[in-house]
Amino acid sequence: MATRILSPLCSSIKKSLQSFGAQAYSTAPVSSFKASDVEITRTTNPAPKPEVSTLKFGHHFSDHMLEIDYTSTAGWGKPRICPVHNLSLHPAAKCLHYAVELFEGMKAFRGDDDRIRLFRPMENMQRMLRTSERSCLPLFDGRELVELIKKLISIDADWPQLGVSRSSSATLFVLIGPVGPYYPTGMAPVKLLADPKFVRAWPGGSGGFKMGSNYAPTMAVQNVAAEKGCQQVLWLFGDDHQLTEVGAMNLFTFWLLEMFGAGTACVVSPVEGVLYNGEMLKIPTMTNPYVTNRCMKELLDIQLK
Ligand SMILES: *Cc1c(COP(=O)(O)O)cnc(C)c1O
Repeated sequence: MATRILSPLCSSIKKSLQSFGAQAYSTAPVSSFKASDVEITRTTNPAPKPEVSTLKFGHHFSDHMLEIDYTSTAGWGKPRICPVHNLSLHPAAKCLHYAVELFEGMKAFRGDDDRIRLFRPMENMQRMLRTSERSCLPLFDGRELVELIKKLISIDADWPQLGVSRSSSATLFVLIGPVGPYYPTGMAPVKLLADPKFVRAWPGGSGGFKMGSNYAPTMAVQNVAAEKGCQQVLWLFGDDHQLTEVGAMNLFTFWLLEMFGAGTACVVSPVEGVLYNGEMLKIPTMTNPYVTNRCMKELLDIQLK
């Protein structure tokens, strides 16, 4: 292991990140809102439910949202579950200028037994708290937020299938809604653009956090990929062009036989080609997608059981 000299700022960030990992789920008191304080206002005007067969990804939202305000002087206010409404922001709001914001994406599934289960929500809470700390947004007790999300989902449970996502003074809000497939073409294999000229994340940067500032710079690269007939970007890093991730998914490779992206949103997305140095390298994933299908099956089995 290499020893390095870190600036005081870096070492204090590192220290607090390490300590935070432990703190998020310990019983140590974190200044937080409490799920038991929630105030609920139900809609008098429920929206019509979309047809399950026509669901698109990220297009539908249920009737209610969760909202919690924070100020550095008063701390967290009471959580409110209320009808979905637009936000009203001062034009100087920091999120508009400096991307001081964060988000999480989580899925909930209705099982054959009609019970609704969240997909490993604690992992999302840990990441959300890490990202809060990295963006200097206020911390909270992740267990309280999971309790509130459960409450919100139970209120909007008659929406067919639910996905969950949320984003000095701050507002924490949670929106839920049913989702269709991330890729409308289903398990169709994708081609990736791998161009070392574009770098998404680097050591010492903030690429490992779910902050808005990591996504805006990728939109134009996604367009370059589309112009070259690719559906996604394979992000490379370093002089030796290491594979890091694909689009906003984690990348999996099985020798030179199979390659696929996987994440909460897309589940599994097989790769059939990589455009690298102007040459389309063929990846034979679909010839015998053994590992790809096994991963898909494992994930679907957890969703629906
Ligand atoms: C959200 C995200 C992922 C996938 O993480 P999940 O835990 O599956 O949601 C991977 N890469 C990036 C850049 C992301 O934003």
